[in-house]
Amino acid sequence: MRYAIFGDIHSNLEALEAVLADADAHGVGSYLCLGDIVGYNADPAACLETVRGLNGAVIKGNHDEYACESDDLTNMNDVAAAGMRWTRDQLNDEQKTWLRSLLLVKQMDGITVVHSSLDQPATWSYVLNRYDAIASFNFQVSNLCFHGHTHVPRVFVKNEQIQEIGDSHFSILPENQYFINVGSVGQPRDGDWRACYAIYDSESQEVVIRHVEYDLITCQHKIIACGLPRYLAERLALGK
Ligand code: ZN
Repeated sequence: MRYAIFGDIHSNLEALEAVLADADAHGVGSYLCLGDIVGYNADPAACLETVRGLNGAVIKGNHDEYACESDDLTNMNDVAAAGMRWTRDQLNDEQKTWLRSLLLVKQMDGITVVHSSLDQPATWSYVLNRYDAIASFNFQVSNLCFHGHTHVPRVFVKNEQIQEIGDSHFSILPENQYFINVGSVGQPRDGDWRACYAIYDSESQEVVIRHVEYDLITCQHKIIACGLPRYLAERLALGK
């Protein structure tokens, strides 16, 4: 089985559709979504319905949580809060109920998925370095765990010690554990504007981190046309 593992879509429908087309062209038969379906960009409802229609595993990201609650947004910066208020208005009650029902951590076919980290999934801690990865590995029982949240693809491996590998195509060894950040579909921050996700092949035991071009111009026009902060459109071109 080939799995597409993708997250941090952030209402970028053009990027999501490009990733799903790429996954389809590579024989993917199963989907794992790492959360943050909504937030920032212009198509929250369409992205939600597209992800829901895949019938794969889906977990909750922090933006999904903010979008289905009604509390104030004092913990967000102005740009993020403006985008989140707009996002809330685009989703109906049934869509918000579905977002609310999503779990923070899930297992599927022996693969663990979480948005932020396994040690603090509910407080959305960031895994930014080896020490953060060590904390998460303490709670990882499976060989493979995929996550997102930082919007930067990174691969941590635990064998006798814990290290980071820089490869975008690597083999899964049964004696190791892997904690893999698949980057972001809809708002990459690794300096590459293209949509980022991973394919895991359970037969060959290989993981590939893929970057996919999408219709950036249409996406940017939509963001500006619906009155979201212009910066949200500009940052997409920079991949940050
Ligand atoms: Zn995110």
